[in-house]
Amino acid sequence: DQQADTKLRDVLAHFALEGGISSVMLYGSGHIHDTYAVKNSQPECPDYLLQRVNHHVFKNVPLLMENIEQVTEHLRQKLQDIPGARPEEEVLTLVPTLNNQSYYQDPEGNFWRVYLLLEGTRSYDIVETPQQAFEGGKAFGRFLALLADLDATQLHDSIPDFHNIENRLRLLAEAVKQDPVGRVAQVSKELGFVQQRAEEMSTIRRLGREGKLPLRTTHNDTKFNNVLLDKYDKALCVIDLDTVMPGYVAYDFGDAIRTTVNKAAEDEADLSKIKVDYDLFKAFTEGFLQETNAFLTEEEVKSLEPGVRLLPFIMGVRFLTDYIDGDNYYKIHFPEHNLQRARAQFRLVEVLEENKERLQNTIQKTSQAYKAVAAEQLR
Ligand code: ADP
Ligand code: MG
Ligand code: MG
Repeated sequence: DQQADTKLRDVLAHFALEGGISSVMLYGSGHIHDTYAVKNSQPECPDYLLQRVNHHVFKNVPLLMENIEQVTEHLRQKLQDIPGARPEEEVLTLVPTLNNQSYYQDPEGNFWRVYLLLEGTRSYDIVETPQQAFEGGKAFGRFLALLADLDATQLHDSIPDFHNIENRLRLLAEAVKQDPVGRVAQVSKELGFVQQRAEEMSTIRRLGREGKLPLRTTHNDTKFNNVLLDKYDKALCVIDLDTVMPGYVAYDFGDAIRTTVNKAAEDEADLSKIKVDYDLFKAFTEGFLQETNAFLTEEEVKSLEPGVRLLPFIMGVRFLTDYIDGDNYYKIHFPEHNLQRARAQFRLVEVLEENKERLQNTIQKTSQAYKAVAAEQLR
């Protein structure tokens, strides 16, 4: 409506935009922020993407924006030195405010930022073909490769303990102890499932503490819809950089696989529909390792398969915790929604366990094949 439009134009007036604004419209299918496409009235000037950052999910927006500034700057520098790369399209570009800040805070306390809109691109909520999966793997792999020389300890934890399974398990144990709405008796099967795997699922963190897995700059929200593809379905740019922070590569691989290989919904009620699409797994893995194999350690390559089981396990634990807590965090559409989500994620863990050897073999073989190619090129 008129009032909302005026508000958005007031916000945009604080940014150093070129040309003029012809329209501001809701855009994309993100679940976290409010995103708008801003069309320019001057044909020679760029279009923009305006976002109101969700500061309930991200409690410290200024620190998060510092992360994004550092990461996009680093990516841009790296791409400028790569022949044939197109830094303007392959990295998000923040448009500064008139005071040269990366965000504007309005009188109501909302945080706003503006990026250049990447024209002619789209993101997919569901992976449809192995080619797309390959492109997704390449995009997230390249992202990690370009950031491999950015000291992760320079970055802030935009959501502390985000993929920390030990902490997630502590929160679950706490909820079980409190049992605020009397649901614990009903979920003993799920709690048993978690209990059986708690130790093993903490392996990646343990290896990290022992110095066997390096902490790197990772994306941490590697859903397929966070890659923009161009009109030829080629990966162009990794977006949604809010959760970029120190992490393990297995987290990025695992969350991408979680959302790529299972074509059923995240909250599928019919557990028999939850399967691993092996061709999509293979294609993603090939794209990912093509870009990362040269710098990943042997331990890291070995950690990718456990990462694939860890990420749906974490999601299941989070949904189960919220169910026991009385549904405070996730929006639910019916009373047992969180329990159904937890069951779907745990079923995915089970089918991944059933395919464990095959997936690990594919990772190892792909990695060795790229090693052989690299060695051949050196001769
Ligand atoms: P959320 O955290 O809410 O998912 P995103 O940053 O992923 O927010 O943005 C939501 C959607 O907006 C994306 O899925 C993508 O389709 C679109 N989008 C984001 N940034 C750009 C951009 N710079 N150019 C074009 N489209 C974009
Ligand atoms: Mg997104
Ligand atoms: Mg996001």
